[in-house]
Amino acid sequence: MTPAHPRSARSELPAGVRPERNPTGHPLNEATLQRNAWLEIDLDALAHNLEVLRRSLSPGVEVLAVVKANAYGHGAPEVARELERLGVERLAVAWVGEGLALRGAGVEVPIVVLGHSFPADAAVAITSDLTLTCDTPELAEALSEAAVAAHRQARIHIKVDTGLRRFGLDLDAATTLAAFARELPALEVEGLSTHMANADEEDDSFSTEQADRFAGAMQKLPWVPFRHVANSATALRRPEMHFQGVRLGLSLYGLAPPHTPVGRLRPVMSLRARVARVTPLEDGEGVSYGLVWRAVGSRRVALVPVGYADGWRRTLTGRCSVLIGGRRAPAV
Ligand SMILES: *Cc1c(COP(=O)(O)O)cnc(C)c1O
Repeated sequence: MTPAHPRSARSELPAGVRPERNPTGHPLNEATLQRNAWLEIDLDALAHNLEVLRRSLSPGVEVLAVVKANAYGHGAPEVARELERLGVERLAVAWVGEGLALRGAGVEVPIVVLGHSFPADAAVAITSDLTLTCDTPELAEALSEAAVAAHRQARIHIKVDTGLRRFGLDLDAATTLAAFARELPALEVEGLSTHMANADEEDDSFSTEQADRFAGAMQKLPWVPFRHVANSATALRRPEMHFQGVRLGLSLYGLAPPHTPVGRLRPVMSLRARVARVTPLEDGEGVSYGLVWRAVGSRRVALVPVGYADGWRRTLTGRCSVLIGGRRAPAV
């Protein structure tokens, strides 16, 4: 579903149907023009969450706002532009294409690509001023060459695998690559990072082990100026791991990771729909696929027109509720 952003909200019809040229030839009334269901993106809530999160950071700690995966489904261009306006120091995405799209949308703040990039990405990364996470000498060389050719400076971050075993280099490989890249023309090793495995587990003691390993990396690479380690949960639970910047995703969008103490965050996204009708049920009647839920006594159910096409999953059956007229009701 396409997110609607209140500051640019308008009703949308399926492609090809326009209010002034619709198949009926008659003007369409307001109900027809509205969607059954829509996502509402509250940019004021985004600003509120950033403010709440900033309060937990020491002065000088940068926010790398994570806007990968279409800003967690919230609409990357709009969210990124708003975050830039709100003064976040950097944005972070998962792959080069996402960074390019943001540049195309007019975003100017530094953008860090957290995921893997290929040497073939180098030229476009340089011309779009994207900071790549570099994990091979081939990529470092390609970036250096592209930067020299474009009369620009390439910046890279090196990620140390401290135990997540997903991406990043072990300590020796990271040190070797950093030393190699440092000698390349027009290339600066700006950042050193790692990512936590158990940040949102009740027992996050593995983070301490990872922090120790990261301390080893900092010791070997004291000349790399910008260290960043913390996702939302780590940032909120372990202030000693803020270093120069924190990578905030979930919490910016208003979700507190499990086992994480945080002030009042507000959800940025809400899924809304107009109730289509209300049906009376008799005792014992079942509702919807599988007739899993059955009325006890006479009940009334409201039809909320949201389905698979809107991202609503059947696995939510029996596990979620909706707000209807401000009151919580189980979805059945
Ligand atoms: C997605 C991601 C984050 C953000 O994590 P949240 O838990 O959403 O705050 C931080 N760092 C990396 C490397 C990520 O991939």
